[in-house]
Amino acid sequence: MVSAYREGDTVVVLLPARMSKSEEKHWVAEMLSRLQRSETRRRSPTRTSDAALLARCEELAERYLDGVRPSSVRWVAPMRTRWASCTPTEGTIRISERLRDVPAWVLDYVLVHELAHLRVPGHGKDFWGLVHRYPKTERAIGYLEGLSAAAGLGITEED
Ligand SMILES: [Zn+2]
Repeated sequence: MVSAYREGDTVVVLLPARMSKSEEKHWVAEMLSRLQRSETRRRSPTRTSDAALLARCEELAERYLDGVRPSSVRWVAPMRTRWASCTPTEGTIRISERLRDVPAWVLDYVLVHELAHLRVPGHGKDFWGLVHRYPKTERAIGYLEGLSAAAGLGITEED
């Protein structure tokens, strides 16, 4: 069995004892690229820029929210009590950098939540009706609760 994992800044590759040098070389390279591929897949592609964030919002809005359009969406420094926020009157959405490394489907939920606020302010029945068009809503809320608890953040809602 060959396996690899990350330990801080180091990648540890476990190889069977009886391998030739060239086999070792081959497997180290192979496992590094596999690890990188799986990490890239798990991360959201929107983590890279505000432009990518806006593009993702457009896709989600098209799919779940009748094409509602924010005027701007951007990453902001971590907020103390919130994952994200929006100003419906201006159509602006801000996403906490704490979410840069969550899985894509969790970030998608947060974006759908904020986009829904452009339609319905507050957290009433109509609001949740919209948000639940996104099928992973419940799972994502659970994920964020766990993340908040694990990091001792005390973040209880998305706002
Ligand atoms: Zn909200």
